Parts: sequence; C-alpha cells; structure tokens
Amino acid sequence: MIADKLGRRFNNLRVSLTAACNYACTYCVPNGKRLMKAQNELSAPDLLKITQLIQAVTGFEKLRMTGGDPLVTPKFEAFLLGVAQLPLTDFSLTTNGQLLLAKEAVIVESGIKRLNISLDTLNPLRFKQIARGGDLETVLKGIERMLELGIAIKINMVPMRQSNQEDILPLLDYCLERGIELRYIELMRMGHLNQDSVYQSEFLSMQHLLDEIGTQYSFERTDAPFDSTAVRYKVPGKGYFGIIANESEPFCTSCTRLRLSSDGYLYGCLSNTARTYVGDLVDEPTDVALPKLEAILTKALGDKRLAFQGETTVMKFIGG
Ligand code: SAM
Repeated sequence: MIADKLGRRFNNLRVSLTAACNYACTYCVPNGKRLMKAQNELSAPDLLKITQLIQAVTGFEKLRMTGGDPLVTPKFEAFLLGVAQLPLTDFSLTTNGQLLLAKEAVIVESGIKRLNISLDTLNPLRFKQIARGGDLETVLKGIERMLELGIAIKINMVPMRQSNQEDILPLLDYCLERGIELRYIELMRMGHLNQDSVYQSEFLSMQHLLDEIGTQYSFERTDAPFDSTAVRYKVPGKGYFGIIANESEPFCTSCTRLRLSSDGYLYGCLSNTARTYVGDLVDEPTDVALPKLEAILTKALGDKRLAFQGETTVMKFIGG
C-alpha cells in the first residue's frame, strides 16, 4: 500500500464525469458559460477501467462522482451502475440537483445510499444570481423526492458575505427540519478567485458562521472520522451540521483524496496543479498498466500539501 510519512494514503477517489455543468456558479465558472466540456473527455467504460486499475493499486474504499455536474452527461448511467458493482464501502455523488427527478430511475437502480446536493440559497432571485442556470423549485422537488426514497442527503452551501449571507440560518432551518446535514464550505481560493479581491470581500470564516448560528441554536462539536473534510457539530435534539474549513481549520494532513478528471488526469492534491495523464493506460495490458500506475500514484501522493494554498485550477475541471 502506498502511504506517506503522515500516514496519508489514497482511500477516497473523486471522479469528475464531465467538466460540463448546467450552472455557472459565480465562484466556480469564471466566464459564466454553461455546459462547457473539457477537451477529449474519456468515455464511461474508460473512466471505469481506470477506476478499477486505481483500486487494484490503492485498495480505495470510497468513491464520489462529481464534475461539472455528473448528471448532465449521458455517461452518468453507465458509470454509476458500473461503480455500484465495485467492492466499495461507500459510493456517492455530488450534484447541483437540477436533474435528480430526471435521473430517478437509475439512481434507484444503482442502490446509492447518499447524495451531496449543492444549494447556496433558498431565495429564487439569489439562486439565479449565484448559479446562473437552473431553477430553485426543481432542486427542492428533487431533494424531497430523494428523501422520500430513503436516500440520505447532505447539502453543500458556500456562504459568501455579499451574495448569500442572509441564507446561512434559513438553510440550516430547512436542513434540520428534514434530517439533512448541512455542510458550509468556506469559500476556496480556486480558479479566478485565487488572486482576486472578490475572494477577500466574499470570504466568511468558520468563526463567523459559528457566531451567526449561535444566535439561534446551541451546538457542540462532535467527533468526525479521521479523513473527514468537515468539522462536525451537533444541535441537540435537532440534528447535525458541518463546516468544511479549508482556511480556518485545514484538513490537509489527514487528506485521503485522489481526483480523476473527465479528460483522464490524476491529481493528488486540490492545492497543486501537478497532474499526470492516465487515459492511455486503458490500452495497456493490465500487467503493464499496474506498475506504471503505481509509480504515478506514488508521485501523486507526494504532491499533497500540508495546507490549502490557493490554486489556479478551476474546480469544475477536477471535481469538487
Ligand atoms: N456540479 C456539482 C455540484 O454543484 O455539486 C458538482 C461539482 S461542484 C465543483 C462541487 C462542489 O464544489 C460544490 O459544492 C461547489 O459549491 C463547490 N465549489 C466550487 N467552487 C468552489 C469554491 N471556489 N469554494 C468553495 N467551494 C466551491
């Protein structure tokens, strides 16, 4: 097993099925353009083959499909059903939720047990301003349907001082009422935000969020798994919420994530542009591909940083 001096190993693969997204969130898509794929994206069978090779080398147990938005691509069905056959302790999906109702049949068929849905506001106008695509009503209906089906949901919100600060408490109310765990994600210096004054004016820290939540709820910090990205809080008698505090409390020293982009590159760290193309390994016999991949993965593990430093890579290309 490949591990580094801190005991970090790859146990969590994030696969970006496509860079195309039906939203163009202000903090993620710099040019505001929707549905832009990456060049030379791999097919579902090729992404699945690489996934299996990576599992053979690392023994990873958890996989998350992401993007872009994984539900916009016709690859989604084949990849999801393929992943459902792998020996994993957990597979899940991050989506903006716009197409959940349209994809209900395959979601049920796959047996997936949990989903992360990104939702930054419950206000239709602010929704349009931030997401720049889709509509709020469809997402809310999709969430209700997934809950009816017994699928556990976490909602991801990126709180921002000027864009959606007034949604911090209403979204928590909405989630606690429905048994949903809300994850506030501190705004990250990714892509166009890396060197941008907008980042400073929009960023809200974990302490700011806790202060605001404390005006309405009492809460206590609870244990989270070793490789969890979130600091988790219990609201007694009501439920849980978490904060992914990339800046305030970085989790890099226990990070077990590896990212495979839709165009076939492996990234060992979200805060490092270093990447290696592995799309060509699908044409190699397995006994040739595996040692090559082991060397690539050893290098990728060495790319992991000790703290998030900001990064020019656009999130939608490598998956959140
Ligand atoms: N389209 C899917 C979605 O909306 O969940 C999956 C891809 S999206 C890139 C994954 C996550 O990354 C979303 O929860 C999104 O809010 C988050 N994200 C993107 N850019 C971010 C940034 N600069 N800071 C914090 N979170 C970001």
